Amino acid sequence: MEYMKRSVTCGELRASDAGKAVVLNGWVHRKREHGPITFVNLRDRYGITQVVVEADAAAALKAAAAELKYEYCIAVKGTVRARPDTMVNPDMETGAVEVVASEIQILSRCETLPFMVDEKSDAKEDLRLKYRYLDLRSLSMQRKIRLRHEVAFAVREYLSGKGFYEIETPTFIRSTPEGARDYLVPSRLYPGKFYALPQSPQLYKQLLMVSGMDKYFQLARCYRDEDARGDRQPEFTQVDIEMSFVKRDDILDLVEGMMGYVFDKTLRAKLPAKFTRIAYDDSIDLYGTDKPDLRFGMKMLDAGGLAAKSGFQAFKDAIADGAAAKAAAAQKGITIDGGAVKALVVPGKADYSRKQIEELEAAAKIYRAKGMAWMKVSAEGKLEGGASKFFTGDAVPAGLEAEVVSTLGAKPGDLILMVADAKKRVACQSLGAVRSKLGKDLGLCDPSKFEFAWIIDFPMFEWNEEENKWDTAHHMFTMPQEKYHATLESDPGAVKGDLYDLVMNGFEIASGSIRIHDPELQKRIFRMVGFSEEEGQKKFGFLTEAFKYGPPPHGGIAPGLDRLVMLMAGETSIKEVIAFPKNSFAISPMDESPNEVDATQLKELAITIIDNGDGTKRLEIGK
Ligand code: ASP
Repeated sequence: MEYMKRSVTCGELRASDAGKAVVLNGWVHRKREHGPITFVNLRDRYGITQVVVEADAAAALKAAAAELKYEYCIAVKGTVRARPDTMVNPDMETGAVEVVASEIQILSRCETLPFMVDEKSDAKEDLRLKYRYLDLRSLSMQRKIRLRHEVAFAVREYLSGKGFYEIETPTFIRSTPEGARDYLVPSRLYPGKFYALPQSPQLYKQLLMVSGMDKYFQLARCYRDEDARGDRQPEFTQVDIEMSFVKRDDILDLVEGMMGYVFDKTLRAKLPAKFTRIAYDDSIDLYGTDKPDLRFGMKMLDAGGLAAKSGFQAFKDAIADGAAAKAAAAQKGITIDGGAVKALVVPGKADYSRKQIEELEAAAKIYRAKGMAWMKVSAEGKLEGGASKFFTGDAVPAGLEAEVVSTLGAKPGDLILMVADAKKRVACQSLGAVRSKLGKDLGLCDPSKFEFAWIIDFPMFEWNEEENKWDTAHHMFTMPQEKYHATLESDPGAVKGDLYDLVMNGFEIASGSIRIHDPELQKRIFRMVGFSEEEGQKKFGFLTEAFKYGPPPHGGIAPGLDRLVMLMAGETSIKEVIAFPKNSFAISPMDESPNEVDATQLKELAITIIDNGDGTKRLEIGK
């Protein structure tokens, strides 16, 4: 029998449609029987409409209604009727009407559901992912997928309007190092050779600048084979952007405009025209992280001077050890930070219990703090408890107690927390972790607020303690800031890159840089991170080769689409905004990938799987 195709969706009928004959298609969301009357809530992507099968309906219609179960896919023919005033449901967009059914056609049946298709599923994640197609039927998932589409569309609109071309770059490429492991695809035609899936289109977008494309973007799928940890996905999407003949501020301006447009268009949220800019060093100093959550203040303060006057030996030792390490490094021509004592004033929390303080200390210890000192400010403005004994009494200079309170700007009833370490970074990061935890614990992270900031002036190089060498902090194609070009090799630790990250609500949303376009400078960077001339030539020869042919000055950035949409949707996992994500172990419970493949497929690729006999396996290629 031919099926009754819909004339309207389940989201569009209003009181003014009363009297119309309609056909609806959709899924049985709920069914209620009120004596002889049956109510069916019929759902599709557009909404839910109430269908009524009346007491005096024909026997065939009643029989069809009786058979309906959750998620049956059906067609309903009927007439729109305005609901009596007392029955209007203001929570439903179609709540002013119902459709009185004259015919119901079952299009397909549904077995017992693994979980209810609901506003928000409380099923376990793996079950939701195994039956993702059912999970995606829920209104909340539908809303998030729609938001993702709208954001992507707004991005395209904005960038196209600014003269950008959307250009696809290959996903089978030569390995592009971005710091993670590549996913490799064995070549059947060339046994023993591999394509890599791109960690990002970095080199290709730079080559497009050499090609004169001037303004490029792409909603680019990127692949990184990292250990499954936190909220990572093996594949994710970036709004990849590159521009020629620009300086840093041109890129920052563009992204500010783009975010403003996207937030206004999709959420009706107004962002400031300009985002705050914070130098990396200041961000570490004030927030202990390069991704600060600026929805709340509670900046960290420097308490080194106060600690030096105190009787707190552990603090004094940390500063002395830090100074000694800094001096020793300076002898070798390496710039490093010394030690630091950082303090945080938690307003009104002098009533925190020992246990609550210990929980905060545990957060600090994750970042290698040896401990966290605390004291409280009494109603009289005196220091009490914990480490207060080191800042009060006869053994310390008179007035130190008052100096602590005034320098830190503490008020009666406040809690003071302090971390000291011979490595400034450890002190900052540890207390920064405490600040982040407090933000969550004290409910200071309002999900409806979007606080953006640029973090700029990142260090260009990081000291790799394991390998005893310098690495680039971002990728190797970043331009060191001009003023450091002469001292790159002599003092790498002091060099700042022309780098910028966009952060929002404690997350990194984008990172980018102005690139090197001088082949000689590029070779110097390769040398500094320990790439021999041949290695550099072998891995990136095609880039340095291209740079021989008039490369323009250029730069770019790549906002992460998944994370952006996640935050816009008020979610805490990117899986919530990806239609078919992997689980936390990089597995798809639905199609069970990664999976074993046929022997013939392996043979074609000249791959043999060998059992090592100890529970592990290895691959042999080329046999
Ligand atoms: N390719 C960089 C990344 O994936 C972004 C950029 O520098 O444009 O982080």
